[in-house]
Amino acid sequence: MSKKTAVFPGSFDPVTKGHEDIVKRALPLFDEIVIAIGQNSTKNYFFPLEKRRAFIEAAFTGEQKIRTDIYDGLTIDYCRKIKASFILRGLRNPADFEFEKSIAQMNRAMAPDIETVLFLTAPELSAISSTIVRDIIRNGGDASPFLPVRVKLK
Ligand code: ADP
Repeated sequence: MSKKTAVFPGSFDPVTKGHEDIVKRALPLFDEIVIAIGQNSTKNYFFPLEKRRAFIEAAFTGEQKIRTDIYDGLTIDYCRKIKASFILRGLRNPADFEFEKSIAQMNRAMAPDIETVLFLTAPELSAISSTIVRDIIRNGGDASPFLPVRVKLK
């Protein structure tokens, strides 16, 4: 049987305990998970790309089945390039559901051979978002409770 690879695409600006939870729970289902940082030229990021990558690598140190990559363009094109048949995403609330449903259905229309797998957030992590974490950091607060234990901002 061919290797089962899933892509977890996102901005990860920065990676949070919510992202970490989704990846860890998805691990038993796949042979490999590629955490893929999407480079969208119209978006302004808070952390530079290499920092975002370093945080993810720190969070998942020692996990043989996980690797980190960077891509631009359509997620489905990236999946085809690395021969991944699954896209992983997380659902925190109804807004995420509506958003993820549209993306998943558009991706399915373009690439019926790639399946989107949606994970419901662990309830205690459902309030965590990279946006709020960035606000905490900008305002000098302590964001560490919301970050994977091995992610050190300084
Ligand atoms: P994007 O910019 O593509 O939304 P993010 O890095 O914000 O990228 O999120 C990537 C994925 O992780 C999305 O599917 C998002 O719903 C999910 N996610 C974000 N925060 C959480 C959380 N606290 N729990 C579960 N999933 C989450």
